[in-house]
Amino acid sequence: MEKYLSQLNEAQLAPTLQKDGPMIVIAGAGSGKTRVLTYRIAYLMSQGIDAFNILSLTFTNKAAREMKERIASIVGESEARNLWMGTFHSIFAKILRIEADKLGFPTNFTIYDSQDSDKLIGSIIKEMGLDKDIYKAKSIRSRISSYKNSLITVKAYLQNSELQEADAMARRPRMGDIYKAYVDRCFKAGAMDFDDLLLRTNELLTRFPEVLMKYQNRFRYILVDEYQDTNHSQYLIVRALSDKFQNICVVGDDAQSIYAFRGANINNILNFQKDYDNVKLYRLEQNYRSTKNIVNAANSIIDKNQTKLDKVVWTANDEGGKIIVNRSLTDGDEGRYVASTIWETKMNEQLQNKDFAVLYRTNAQSRAIEDALRKRDIPYKIYGGLSFYQRKEIKDVISYLRLVINPSDEEALKRVINFPPRGIGATTVDRLVVAANQYNRTIFEVMKNIDKVDIKINSGTKGKLFDFVTMIESYQVMNQTADVFELAEHVTRTSGLIKEFKKDATPEGVTRMENIEELLNGMKDFVEGQLEVADATASLSEFLEDVALSSDLDSDKEDVDHVALMTIHLAKGLEFPHVFIVGLEEDLFPSAMSMNTRSELEEERRLFYVALTRAEKQAYLTYALSRYRWGKLTDADPSRFIQEIDEQYLEITTPIEERRINPMLDADIFGDVSPNTKQQVVSKQNIRFKPAKQVNLKKGTPQKEQPKFQASTPKKLKPVDATKSGGDTNLFDGKLAVGNIVNHMRFGKGEVLKIEGTGADLKAEIKFQQVGVKKLLLRFAKLDVI
Ligand code: ATP
Ligand code: MG
Repeated sequence: MEKYLSQLNEAQLAPTLQKDGPMIVIAGAGSGKTRVLTYRIAYLMSQGIDAFNILSLTFTNKAAREMKERIASIVGESEARNLWMGTFHSIFAKILRIEADKLGFPTNFTIYDSQDSDKLIGSIIKEMGLDKDIYKAKSIRSRISSYKNSLITVKAYLQNSELQEADAMARRPRMGDIYKAYVDRCFKAGAMDFDDLLLRTNELLTRFPEVLMKYQNRFRYILVDEYQDTNHSQYLIVRALSDKFQNICVVGDDAQSIYAFRGANINNILNFQKDYDNVKLYRLEQNYRSTKNIVNAANSIIDKNQTKLDKVVWTANDEGGKIIVNRSLTDGDEGRYVASTIWETKMNEQLQNKDFAVLYRTNAQSRAIEDALRKRDIPYKIYGGLSFYQRKEIKDVISYLRLVINPSDEEALKRVINFPPRGIGATTVDRLVVAANQYNRTIFEVMKNIDKVDIKINSGTKGKLFDFVTMIESYQVMNQTADVFELAEHVTRTSGLIKEFKKDATPEGVTRMENIEELLNGMKDFVEGQLEVADATASLSEFLEDVALSSDLDSDKEDVDHVALMTIHLAKGLEFPHVFIVGLEEDLFPSAMSMNTRSELEEERRLFYVALTRAEKQAYLTYALSRYRWGKLTDADPSRFIQEIDEQYLEITTPIEERRINPMLDADIFGDVSPNTKQQVVSKQNIRFKPAKQVNLKKGTPQKEQPKFQASTPKKLKPVDATKSGGDTNLFDGKLAVGNIVNHMRFGKGEVLKIEGTGADLKAEIKFQQVGVKKLLLRFAKLDVI
């Protein structure tokens, strides 16, 4: 152990070696918070603490797995195996599995994913005869989710007139009824959604003191990573479980709190010292992840936030390259810039694909990046899209298995009752739902007793329903003895699924078959890893639980080499040598929806801080002057976040249109590779979408019209004598002088008071009529002289 402790600095050692009592580590990105948690667990074990008594909660299951591997390498595999580590959801799903009957749920309860929840809410809205454009399933789900995460149960909701009024104001007076119906239906289906895993755990721990005591005694040491992003429900669980022994260690960074929109409460970290007695507070200041340039640039950004704890972050690492800022004409060009830079850097520095990550604000941005990477044959993986298990064909198979385990599962049943088609139409299903509600039974029970139920279904259809029930029951019998793989293989064959998918010979159909094969292979792996499990049913429900809670981040295999594409939200806690942050444009990042209040804008800024601090060696910030958004070509301004970074850490590179060396590699979305025709296409495109603007074509390279005072490259700027105010400034084809009246996209009309700086630093002080005096960096400001 001593050997390992030498891998920590002194500040990290202190919280690692404090065995007992409540403690909080607040520290900036890359300072070793996660490392402290990892080594602390190993240390506790070396001090004789049983692995069974340690609970560690992480942000992703992947993070938990990596921590466990590291701990295993220190204390040994067999010891580490018994640690309870994982996300809140996965850990408490396991506990609920054991205790579910106390809450009236079957222990084989299903976990509804967000698709299932949306569908159920959709049917409830339909059954109630409500307008689905006002009662949108997705937004209803997010309302319900936020109630649950604030522990507002249906009962609490119905007693809270303020909430009800707010929903009524939002033209949704029936919100309470929907919430109630949703909760009832989930309960009847023996299903919990993601939020229930936390809500029901809270219910369990409050209603059953003996259960609380059992887990308090079990988890004598509790550790939480990324504490700044816990929501109220998670907070209460941690609070309750740690109440007896108070051996609680949380680590976090208020500057990285980025999930407020999903109910995360930054106050959990700020109030921690009030929640327990004699809390020890530790700070870590040395960043080990990134270069000086990156660390300092990140500090200069987060400094702009008013709400923050004061923190020092420094690094002894190399200065590193400056942060590269690149401007492109379009999102397509931006994608090509990213792809060609990755390609060149990989060659020049002998790197692997997995040394690169591309981070964006919204999922929709991935498409242009993907296109460009594909053209260069650079392997990539998108994280956070549809997970493998949510693909249609996979969900079909999984739904059959879910029914085997829990025939009450309404969503699984509705999904496969007539897939592959077996003559059970939508009307029949609707009638079954009505009957189920009427008799207060599950749909499956109604089907089983179809002859005893008063229902308008003809005898032919009744026969089909009966066949379906018999089929599922035969699978249940098989599940007593067969393993997951054998069962799934049998189900896909005998249910007619394989036959149905094989009918489709299109490439999509072939991919579907391949995916099913991959699913079966995964099951085989699972079975082999579970040889000791004697109870086949247990192993199927365990498999399904893994499926329900898995994200594609978790299923990542170490040996695959690809560029990672993901939203910034997903990148939390991760690190990559080279990081591209793309789409740095006003209204995109910061998002247009998050600029109404200071606190929203500050959350966007924290998000940018998280993005930048993922980079170890080199960060790239890119933006485009126009991009397709919602199917329209839209003009864009560079993000204020670029302007907010202290300029000494930035390097503005030549824009893409002047970098094209090999047009073959830059074949664009128009499928056009010749620079000449491309030029025409681009100009056409400009004319089509921006008829008011001039297109300035230079020989050989497509050029977008240059906003007058937007410098494209610092090299082209003529130096200006900053001491001589009033000196003329040559910028491309335009001149800006003191006294000029200019127009700015955002600030409107103003008068130039002063010009200063040289080259890339050229700034103008402008007195705007509406917003007062502003100092603008001319290479960013879009100005027109009037
Ligand atoms: P984040 O806020 O992004 O989650 P963090 O504070 O959890 O960051 P870690 O991920 O634990 O930071 O550490 C950042 C990097 O620095 C990791 O690669 C880690 O292995 C390395 N590191 C941390 N402490 C040390 C140390 N004392 N010596 C060498 N490397 C270290
Ligand atoms: Mg971390």
